[in-house]
Amino acid sequence: MNICNKPPNKTAPENLGEAGPEVQRARRNGWSWPLHPFQIITWLLYLFFALVGFGILVPLLPIHWLPAGYICPGVCFIYHLVVHLTAVSIDPADAKVREKNYLGPLATFNRNQHAHVIENHHCHVCDVNVSAKSKHCGTCNKCVHGFDHHCKWLNNCVGKRNYWFFLNSVVSAILGLGLLLLVAFYVFVEFFLNPTMLRSDHHYEGLKNHTDVWFVFLPAVPVETRAPAILFSAGTFILLGLVTVGLLGHLLIFHIYLMWNKLTTYEYILQQRAQQEAKEADKQPDPCPSQVIPSQVPAVPPTLFFHHLFWALDCLFSFANAAVCYSRAVNRVGELIWVVFSRASSLPFSSPSSHITACVSMKEDD
Ligand SMILES: [Zn+2]
Ligand SMILES: [Zn+2]
Repeated sequence: MNICNKPPNKTAPENLGEAGPEVQRARRNGWSWPLHPFQIITWLLYLFFALVGFGILVPLLPIHWLPAGYICPGVCFIYHLVVHLTAVSIDPADAKVREKNYLGPLATFNRNQHAHVIENHHCHVCDVNVSAKSKHCGTCNKCVHGFDHHCKWLNNCVGKRNYWFFLNSVVSAILGLGLLLLVAFYVFVEFFLNPTMLRSDHHYEGLKNHTDVWFVFLPAVPVETRAPAILFSAGTFILLGLVTVGLLGHLLIFHIYLMWNKLTTYEYILQQRAQQEAKEADKQPDPCPSQVIPSQVPAVPPTLFFHHLFWALDCLFSFANAAVCYSRAVNRVGELIWVVFSRASSLPFSSPSSHITACVSMKEDD
C-alpha cells in the first residue's frame, strides 16, 4: 500500500491551504443542508416498517393478540422516533463552539501556517479553544465534543451530547422491528397452514367463500386486496427486517464492545489503523515519509455500512454451511449443495474484526 499518496486529513476542511472562492460553513445538526441519501433511506425504511407492520400485518393477528400486537412494538416505535429525532436534532458541537455564532463563514485552514487543525486545544477553523476530547469533523465543519463518529444515517455527528440517544435509537429499532418480525413470520406461516386464523376481523365475516379477498389497513380504513398482496407484504417485510435487524444488531454489539473497552469508534479505528500500519511496516519498510500528521488523525470511514453488510453475509454463509453439512449426511443431493456453498464460503469473509480492518484499509486506498 502506498501511503505516500494518502489523502490529507479528512476531518479537516477540504480546501486546505487553497485560497479558493468556496466559503466554508458549519452544519448545525442532521437537518442542516445538504441532506444525505442514507438519511432519506432511513426514514423511508421507518415508514415502510410502520405502515406494513401496523397497517397490514398486526391487524391479521387473532383478536386476543391484537392489544399486545399493537402496544409492544408500538411503544418501541414511538420511543425510537423520539430518540432518533433527538439524536438528529441535537447539536453535538463543543460548548465553546456553540457559544459563538459559528454558522457564518469560517476561517480557511492554511496548512502552510499550521501543522494541525487543532493545536494546543485551539481549533484554527472554529477559532476557539476546545476541550481535549473534541475533534474537528470535516463533514460538519466544527469541533464535536467526545467525537465518536460522523453518522451518515443520522446525517449528524455522534458525540458526547447525543451518543446516548444514538444508542437508544439502535436498541429501540432492534426491539420494535424484532417484535414485528415475529408477527410477520406468524402471518407468513399461517397464510399457508391455516389462513382462517388471520381472518378474525369482522370485515371477513361475510366472506367465508371468498378466501382470496383480504383487507389491509384494518380496522380504520379497510382497503380490499388479494392474497398475493398479503404474501408479498409479509415476505418483503421479513427480508428487509432481517437485514436491518442483522446490521443494527452488529452495530449494537460493536458499541457494547467499545463501551466495555472504554473506546470511541474513532479511537478504535485509529487503533486498528496503527496496528495495520505497524504490520505493513514490518513486512516492507516504506522509504516515503507519511503525510499523515499525528494529531491530524484520519477521518472515520464514511460509514460502517459495508462492514456491517460483510458481517451479515458472513453469518449467511455460516448458516448456509451448517445447513449444507446436514444435507450431506442425509443424501448425495446434500453433498452437491455442500460443494456449491463451500465454494461460496471461500469468499473473504472471516470475522467482524477483520472486516473493520479491511474497511479501514479500503479507506486508506480512497
Ligand atoms: Zn474546529
Ligand atoms: Zn460530523
